[in-house]
Amino acid sequence: MRLAPYAADPAASRGRVFDEPAATTRSQFQRDRDRIVHSTAFRRLEYKTQVFLNHEGDLYRTRLTHSIEVAQIARSIARALGLNEDLVEAISLAHDLGHTPFGHAGQDALDQCMRPWGGFEHNLQSLRVVDALEQRYAAFDGLNLCFETREGILKHCRKAVAAGLGPVAQRFVSGGQPTLEAQVANLADEIAYNNHDVDDGLRSGLIVFAQLEEVALFRRHAQAVRRRHPDLADRRLVHETVRAMINELVTDLLDETARRIAQAGVASVDDVRAAPPLVAFSASVRRQSSQLKRFLYRSLYRHARVMRVMDDAKRVVQGLFDAYRADPGALPAEHAERVAAGGPRAIADYIAGMTDRFALQEHARVCGMRSTSDGR
Ligand code: MG
Repeated sequence: MRLAPYAADPAASRGRVFDEPAATTRSQFQRDRDRIVHSTAFRRLEYKTQVFLNHEGDLYRTRLTHSIEVAQIARSIARALGLNEDLVEAISLAHDLGHTPFGHAGQDALDQCMRPWGGFEHNLQSLRVVDALEQRYAAFDGLNLCFETREGILKHCRKAVAAGLGPVAQRFVSGGQPTLEAQVANLADEIAYNNHDVDDGLRSGLIVFAQLEEVALFRRHAQAVRRRHPDLADRRLVHETVRAMINELVTDLLDETARRIAQAGVASVDDVRAAPPLVAFSASVRRQSSQLKRFLYRSLYRHARVMRVMDDAKRVVQGLFDAYRADPGALPAEHAERVAAGGPRAIADYIAGMTDRFALQEHARVCGMRSTSDGR
């Protein structure tokens, strides 16, 4: 398929930190995607929390299925806009590689532990995973990905931190946008989690259908589905509604983005970098998506049952951090060496890499007690 002139062209990539001969059968971005899929951090996503802990049920999203859904939505959008599908896929599959066990609760706890040493942020950690922490190649640490993939993984970054990261974070210092592919992956993430969290939230019973009808986007599509299919069973009603919401969000995003691209008159990636953000929802759909996000935050992510599990998860992360700080000998030899050389940051790297269940097992082992969320 022909790419639009403003699409990222793998042949014109800003390249990799360590020079490598070009692959013979794949583009640069396809190679990045393949390296991500084969990484250890990617496999760990299978056992990391999205909203519900991995052992709470087999049908809930995990970080892995979330990442695959983001990639699916991002590729559909990219294809329709003539953008580079391989690059959006690589960015989407890698965007959550730095997530701790236990989702945002884990990140918040680790951030708290790391406060004296610069804090912890999962997005920054995703870049750290692909730049340094994966150890697979003879010639370099990390996956040595292309600039465009790395830039897309680093979605946001504080200015003070950006200054120390070099060219990949330059835009957070001097302004400017990343490629359209990075912008697409970012909004595909929002479309994916808003919708799958509705589905998972309803499945869990923590939120109920009637509650969601206070959200305009949901109500409109649920009513339309009911009009078309008055006798539809609940699970199908939910799925038809969610699918219609995703369709509206994607269609609106495509229309608004095409309009902005035409208006800005961009004809190259350099033009895209200098333009305002071009991948966007219309103002009305932006409002509706934000309303859904606020609803989920209030009703699902802050639900008493979720909070209880997450408070427990925070204690697990805090307990592990304190135990390794007090006795680096509790770490596997390789990580103890890294801690000797790199201090607390190496402890954070080790904990961030853990899956939910490994963190619970480790906590039981090094802290000598079972956490209350263990063994459910
Ligand atoms: Mg995500």
